[in-house]
This record gives sequence, C-alpha cells and structure tokens, in this order.
Amino acid sequence: MIRDRAAQEARLAMAMRLVQEVLIPAEAETDATDEVPAGVLAALREAGLFGISIPEAHGGLGLTMEEEAELMLVLGRAAPAYRSRYALNSGGAAQILLHVGTPAQQGRWLPGMARGEVVAAFCLSEAEAGSDAGSLQCAATLEPDGGWVLDGTKRWVTNAPEAALLVVMARSGEAEISAFAVPAGATGVEVLPAQRKMGLRGVHVADIRLHQVRLPPDALLGPRGGGLRAALAGLDKVRLHLAALCAGTAERLVEEGVRHAERRRQFGKRLHEHQAVAALLADSATDALAARCMALELARKRDRGELVAGEAAAAKLFATEALGRVADRILQVHGGEGYMEGSAAERLYRDARLFRILDGTSEVQRIVIARWAVLRGTIA
Ligand SMILES: Cc1cc2nc3c(=O)[nH]c(=O)nc-3n(C[C@H](O)[C@H](O)[C@H](O)COP(=O)(O)OP(=O)(O)OC[C@H]3O[C@@H](n4cnc5c(N)ncnc54)[C@H](O)[C@@H]3O)c2cc1C
Repeated sequence: MIRDRAAQEARLAMAMRLVQEVLIPAEAETDATDEVPAGVLAALREAGLFGISIPEAHGGLGLTMEEEAELMLVLGRAAPAYRSRYALNSGGAAQILLHVGTPAQQGRWLPGMARGEVVAAFCLSEAEAGSDAGSLQCAATLEPDGGWVLDGTKRWVTNAPEAALLVVMARSGEAEISAFAVPAGATGVEVLPAQRKMGLRGVHVADIRLHQVRLPPDALLGPRGGGLRAALAGLDKVRLHLAALCAGTAERLVEEGVRHAERRRQFGKRLHEHQAVAALLADSATDALAARCMALELARKRDRGELVAGEAAAAKLFATEALGRVADRILQVHGGEGYMEGSAAERLYRDARLFRILDGTSEVQRIVIARWAVLRGTIA
C-alpha cells in the first residue's frame, strides 16, 4: 500500500540521488578498504535509513511493506554492503523488540537504533546451529534474583564490532529458547576479530563469546521460552525486504551489462549485436523483472494482511537465485574485465552470493514453500 504517492516519489528520488551521488561512487573504496567511509554512514543516517523498518512512533520511517519494497528496489542498486550497515538495525533485532518488547525496552533501544546512533546485532547462529537454529546451545541460567547469566558463543554476527546492543537467543531450559537484550559493553562479552569474507566488504562479521554475562530480569525479551518464535516473527518482512534488495541489485547489473555491451566492439560489432550476448542480457532483464514483480505483489499482499510464510520464502528464493544467475551472466558479458578486481560486475558477483545463504538458505526456503504448497494443495 502506498499511502501518499507524492511523498513516496520524493522518497524514491532522494534514494536515487543517494545511490548515484554517494553510494555508487564510494563502492570501490568501500570494497578495497573494507570500511564504509564516515561520510557515507552520515548520509545514510541523515536519510533515516537506519530506521527503514521501524515505525514512526519509535523514530523510524514507518513505511508500509510496499513502500519499503519500492525503496529497496532503488537502494538495491548500490552495493548491498550499505544495506547491511543500516537495515540490519531495523531487521532481526528491531523486529524482536517490536514484536515482544515491553514499552520500556522499546523506548530504551528503538529510537537510538532508528537514528543510527545505536547499532544492534542479531545473534542467533552458532557453530553447530545454522539452518537448525533450534538446536542452539548458548545457555541462559535463571538466577535467584530473577536475573540471567548467559554462557556460549554466537557465530558470524553482522555488525558485531560496531554493535551497542546484542539481541541474543539462548537456551533457558531443555526445550525452550529465550531472547535477551544484551548491552555489548556488559562484563563477559567478547567480540572476536572480524573474519574476512568473499564480499560485502565494509560490513564486519564476527563471533561473540559470552562468558558468565550477568543480566537484570528486564533483559528478557518477551515471554520465557518465546525466543525462537520472536526471532522468526519478523522473518516474512525481512525476506520480502531482501527480495526487493536483490531485484534492485539485479537491475543495476543489467544496466552495467548493457552499458558494457554498447561500449565494447568485437568482430566489428557492438557486443549486444551478437545474438548470444543479447540473450544473456535478455534473460537477465527477465529475471530482474520477475523478481521485482514478485517482491512488489507480495509486499502489497502483506500490507493487506494476507501474506503467508511460503510466499515470503518464495520471493526470497526466487530473487536471490535470480540475482545469482544475473550476476553470473553479466560477469560473462564483461569478459576478462568482469573477472578482474575493480569492476562493478566482479564486486557485485561476490556480494550476490551471500543472499542464497543468509536469512534461511535456498534449501530451507524450499522446505517452507513445499510445506505451504502441500498444505494448500495449490498455490493459485
Ligand atoms: C556474511 C554472513 C553474515 C551472517 N550474519 C548473521 C547474523 O547477523 N546473525 C546470525 O544469527 N547469523 C548470521 N549468519 C549465519 C547465517 O544465518 C547462516 O550461515 C545460515 O543460517 C546457514 O547456516 P550454516 O552456515 O550453518 O549452514 P548449514 O545449516 O550448515 O547448511 C549447510 C548446507 O546444508 C543445507 N541444509 C541444511 N539443513 C538442510 C535441510 N534440512 N534440508 C536441506 N538442506 C539443508 C543448507 O541449505 C546449506 O546448503 C551470517 C552468515 C554469513 C555468511
């Protein structure tokens, strides 16, 4: 649902200016230095993007899902590393606070997160608990005074070095997982050195050790034992957001491919005049368009309260796999130049690979989709 078309157009125009004038020009430096320049972070903050999925009442942009999806289609045109810096704040961590946090917990954390002053990280995965998040072992022990002690190690926490708030899922009983708000400065929290990654340079991902971390009773988010449900509650929103992001990145790649194919000549013709190259571009444009249509249609469905988990999973599966195909074809269109460091095709190819793994792998999405399709008997 677009509540005010003129306001939305102004937002999209602002985002396009940000992409073209600030984000894309900084991509090579961000990739080479593994740091998002301070000026870029300031511009993202100023645009309110740290609060992209946070309601207005808590200082966020307060967008409908369709408005957010349209915005991500534009912002997805820039390297997805920028999104991981701002949107993770309002992704998993904020969604848990929004779903199960008390007014006091929401008031303490959400406004600072929306302003981009408080970085929040989502700590679910562990070395032995990835897709099977329910098998996590980080322990939460209830103290006689109602407080909690956390012990364990969380794996691959995005924005861990920058985070002030860790939303941690931990085992509070044999068959129960609870969610906790852990200030990153609490005694016993140790952020390990960030690991080097294939892409998304500028975003830092590190393990976090929790050693006898003592928390007050009000660190518990939601009911005891409701941690996994809370972690999964915002997943359909996150998946549609990612689908729109990937569709935007695919569109950017198509444009990069077209530009290169128009500029470069071989055998006396522009590249796109060779039918085989034109087919690579046509298939990529089709993938990008289909991903866009799916993200927008399902965003509208979510706004109407009609979206089911299988549909969000299908949008995420299709868009991330489509982006993978597009990134591969567009690199091919660039030939040797696409393989060499420094081209957008090379950078985005490395970045794109992550999305088939993050927030539920493609295989996990297929399980969700199959369950939904089987239950309904039809997907019409
Ligand atoms: C850059 C990066 C950032 C991350 N950021 C965060 C973060 O901020 N917070 C966080 O909590 N986690 C984060 N993660 C972890 C991420 O969520 C996991 O990598 C993801 O859930 C997959 O888990 P895994 O890597 O353990 O793979 P595994 O679960 O071990 O899966 C390995 C393979 O087996 C397949 N597989 C597993 N189970 C099944 C099944 N039942 N049926 C069919 N196939 C199956 C998978 O699809 C995959 O292909 C991050 C990971 C990366 C790489």
